[in-house]
Amino acid sequence: MTDCIFCDIVAGAAPAAVVAEDEHTVSFMDINPVNPGHVLTVTRRHAVDIWDVTAEEAGHLMAAAHGVCDAIRRALKPDGLDLFVANGAEGGQTVFHVHVHSIPRMAGDGWTDPWTPTPGDAEEIAAVASRLREAARDA
Ligand SMILES: [Zn+2]
Repeated sequence: MTDCIFCDIVAGAAPAAVVAEDEHTVSFMDINPVNPGHVLTVTRRHAVDIWDVTAEEAGHLMAAAHGVCDAIRRALKPDGLDLFVANGAEGGQTVFHVHVHSIPRMAGDGWTDPWTPTPGDAEEIAAVASRLREAARDA
């Protein structure tokens, strides 16, 4: 056992209802599901969050989550689906091993969007876009 529950699940040292796995990832049922069929996909390597994985690892993670979403659609026929990655405590992350939530959504399930879309300040949006373009260029 380690101090990371998801590493323990990856190692088979903690129980989980695994639904899919490959060389890079493991996908298993969330024990605190938003809706039935809520699956978590994790990297086999311990990585804290999205900033702690390489672009290649992020690709493996998303490809595995994509496969889970496809399985959810075929098996459960949800009305919709949310794909979600929380990063950092302030981002709502509670287990600090990067994981993608695949959450089937049903009409009238009572879950609401985490924010209400409201028009932003155009000048601020343009200024932040400029900073992000610069940062993306320097990456
Ligand atoms: Zn871990």
